[in-house]
Amino acid sequence: MPSRFSLALVLLLVSPVPLAQPLLAQENAPSAPYGQFLKVRVNTGERSRLTVKKNWLGTKRPSHTVPILMLAGHADSQRISPGTRGYAVAVNGAPPMRPGMTDETFWNLATARRIAELGTQRGLEIRFYDPGVRTIHDGDDPRTNWSQGKRHVQAGGYALEIHYDAYGRDGVGSGVIPRVYGGQTVIDEHLAQEFGSFPWDFRGVLGAPKRGITILEVGKLEGDLENKLRDPATRDAALNTIADRVVTTMAKALGVPQPVVQAPSPPALPPSPGTTVANQKPPLPLQVSPPPPIHSPTSSTHRKTSTQGATGAATRL
Ligand SMILES: [Zn+2]
Repeated sequence: MPSRFSLALVLLLVSPVPLAQPLLAQENAPSAPYGQFLKVRVNTGERSRLTVKKNWLGTKRPSHTVPILMLAGHADSQRISPGTRGYAVAVNGAPPMRPGMTDETFWNLATARRIAELGTQRGLEIRFYDPGVRTIHDGDDPRTNWSQGKRHVQAGGYALEIHYDAYGRDGVGSGVIPRVYGGQTVIDEHLAQEFGSFPWDFRGVLGAPKRGITILEVGKLEGDLENKLRDPATRDAALNTIADRVVTTMAKALGVPQPVVQAPSPPALPPSPGTTVANQKPPLPLQVSPPPPIHSPTSSTHRKTSTQGATGAATRL
């Protein structure tokens, strides 16, 4: 009896099970627990069905300090090319988010702005441009997205215009329509791996790509994506989740290190002696260290493409 008991004790001591617990807990923790801000699970829906027709490869590698200009699709073309009203308004008869503009434009503005805010916190050289005037008839007016984007790209920058795609069968799905002028970059490539893609000559080359502006269709404005954006209870967190996904992808493409915030300790583990449980205070505001010199020629190794939309824990991270 004693010897069997000892054996059992030894087995218990060398058992890998207790070790496995923290590993499992680590796996269950958010994979990218950056920052101190609320996120919510958002499904951006189907990826572009034209992803299989991708006929370009983003290989140009901008400096990690490349200035990024965020633009909101249709923000200057409300009476010309207004964008989709979205399923909620067009089909369900919901009131538009803001009178005088389509819901797509409203969300393009909110998303582009949030990406610039988060990107700045994460060490990207990034800003948002709002033309202010919602209908500018001359596309080459210096105040338009097209003019601002083109000038920015001519000066060596990168410009990204946010869109939400049409609901239902008119929509193609989430994905990148890459810039043509200036040539496709590793940012375009990484975004395409993350969101899906369109051929570079989609609809005979659109006005924005022709001027060097890459378009990102976040997803079709319907379903979970639209609902999480419209619901005041989840709106802010949904914008965070989408912005986090875009910023993280661009930062990865540029080799800008992202702050790693310690994941919350698994609650199942008893505190070790001397450990104060109260040390689980939220992480400090982001302190982004300057990026190291880039020396990775391995840009073609993308992280695994997620098969579903953006995700994030519905907790403070
Ligand atoms: Zn659009």
